[in-house]
Amino acid sequence: MSAAPTLLQVEALEVVYGGAVHALHGVDLAVRAGEIVALVGANGAGKTTLLRAVSNLLPALRGQVTAGRLAYDGRDVTRTRTDALVRAGLVGVLEGRHCFRGLSVQENLVAGGLGRGSGRSDVRADLERVYGLFPRLAAKREVAAGLLSGGEQQMAAIGRALMGRPRLLVLDEPSMGLAPRVVEEIYRVLAGLNRAEGLTLLVAEQNVRLALRHAHHAVVLENGRSALAGSAASLRARDDVRSLYLGGAERPEAAAAPEARRRAPA
Ligand code: ATP
Repeated sequence: MSAAPTLLQVEALEVVYGGAVHALHGVDLAVRAGEIVALVGANGAGKTTLLRAVSNLLPALRGQVTAGRLAYDGRDVTRTRTDALVRAGLVGVLEGRHCFRGLSVQENLVAGGLGRGSGRSDVRADLERVYGLFPRLAAKREVAAGLLSGGEQQMAAIGRALMGRPRLLVLDEPSMGLAPRVVEEIYRVLAGLNRAEGLTLLVAEQNVRLALRHAHHAVVLENGRSALAGSAASLRARDDVRSLYLGGAERPEAAAAPEARRRAPA
């Protein structure tokens, strides 16, 4: 069986903020079409920075790719503008589920379709599709996004991204601060889109257990470096991953570990 083509390739990426803070040191990562790839690691490991680099959002934060390259669908996109990436199908849900708070849910979703350049009938069809995936949004379509619960805002942010008909959806900690039931609902929708439509996902998660349950492959970042990479099953089976991130070697599936844990000092 031939492997699916690589949709996103990150090669030896270096990122510096403000000319001083070296956040990524030669990070490599590949996402094949149709895969879910999880980017895991503790606070400050560089997950958000890597996703910002992928969507070319670093310049607004005085961040810069100083070495290495990013390729999407076989093209170098290291310096490609975010709006052009969105039109090419690389769409991000980053930075704390931003919605336009004063706009209704529906207006937020429509904005996602317009960002891609969709026509009116496409937007209508895509709206119904998003409402089908997230019925809670349908019930609140006229409500201002700022009045939604955290989970609903995350759904609205994901829905807005889906309105752009992404090929690669990039998500930064979609589970952050949300109740387990809502997190399950969101992951069920994302995994369903992956299975049914082959939507490719790159997801940063501090909740390593959750990430390794849903992803096909994972990359572990530590202090801005890719420390480990492999299939989710192989990483779940490793003792070091279990003790560092899954709450110990015994009964790895039973322990509740809502967040990645750092190694205790020896
Ligand atoms: P978290 O889960 O806490 O967001 P993370 O793995 O996403 O962690 P990043 O937020 O990418 O990690 O941070 C990586 C490093 O870059 C950290 O040392 C952080 O302090 C630094 N950093 C992140 N954003 C900025 C910024 N805008 N300006 C300067 N330094 C930054």
